[in-house]
Amino acid sequence: MRNILSVDVEDYFHPSEVQRSVDHSRWDALPSRVCDSTAEVLDLLAAHRTRATFFILGWVARRFPALVRRIAAAGHEIACHSYAHSLVYELSPAEFKADTLHAVAVIADAAGARPTAYRAPSYSITRRSLWALETLVECGFTTDSSIYPIRHDRYGIPGHPRHPHVLETPAGPIIEVPPATASLSPSRIVPVGGGGYLRLLPYRYTAAGIRRINAVEQAAACIYFHPWEIDAAQPRLASSALARARTYLGLHGMKSKLARLLRDFEFAPLSDVCADPSVLPAFPIGSGNDPVH
Ligand SMILES: [Zn+2]
Repeated sequence: MRNILSVDVEDYFHPSEVQRSVDHSRWDALPSRVCDSTAEVLDLLAAHRTRATFFILGWVARRFPALVRRIAAAGHEIACHSYAHSLVYELSPAEFKADTLHAVAVIADAAGARPTAYRAPSYSITRRSLWALETLVECGFTTDSSIYPIRHDRYGIPGHPRHPHVLETPAGPIIEVPPATASLSPSRIVPVGGGGYLRLLPYRYTAAGIRRINAVEQAAACIYFHPWEIDAAQPRLASSALARARTYLGLHGMKSKLARLLRDFEFAPLSDVCADPSVLPAFPIGSGNDPVH
C-alpha cells in the first residue's frame, strides 16, 4: 500500500501558533532557516529513495526561488501552501483569492509550472470557509488537502469523509485528500497524519495508525510534517505555554522518527496516489456523509 507523504515548506516563524507572537511585518527581518531545514528533509528523503508533495508557502517561493527549483529537481511534486499563511476562515473570499493567485504566480515563476494541489494554513478550510474550495477550482487547482476530519480548537470538520474523495463545487470537482485519522469507534476519530502528533507521541502511535488505515480500511494514509520540526536549534518565538508545547516539544527526536517511518512504510506524492478522480467516491458539499449545513 502506497501512502502519501507531504511537507509544508514554511519558516519557523510562520506556524499559526508562532504568528500570535511574531507579526508579518517582522518576517523579512528575521534570520531565515527554511533553506537549511528543507535541505535536510531532501537529504533524508533521498537516502530513503522517497518522493513527496511539497506544499510551499508563496512567501518562501518569492524569497528563495532556488529552493523551489531544488525541490522540483529532486523529483518531488510542487504544491501550494498559500502566500502569507493566513487562516482561510479569517479572510474574505476576495482576500483568499488574491492570496492564492499571488502564491500561484510566485511558485509557478520559481518552479516553471503551476501548482495543482493546495493545502490551507493550519487546515483552515472548515465549515465556515467551505466556499474556498470553489475558489481553488477557479484558480486552477485539481486537488486540495485542507480539511481535517476531526474536532480541534483551531480546525477540523468532524464527520467529514476521512479518505480521498471528490467534492463537487459550483465551479467543478476537486479531489480532497484529508490527513490521516484513525477510527477507534464511529464517534471517536483521532488524528494520525502528522506533524505535531508524530513529534509529540511515541512512534508506535503513528505506525499503528497507518497500519490500521492500510489493513483494516484498505486506504492510503496522508502524512505531513514541516522542515522546522527537525530544526531543534530554531529560536523559540511562540509565547503562550500551549503554543510552545505544540510547536517545540519533540523536535530532537523528530528526524529519527521520520527515518523510521520512511523505512517501515512506502510513500509517494499526493498526485501519484490520487491521480484518477473517477475511482474516488464523490460528495456534493453539504450532503452525504458531510454534515455541513
Ligand atoms: Zn503551515
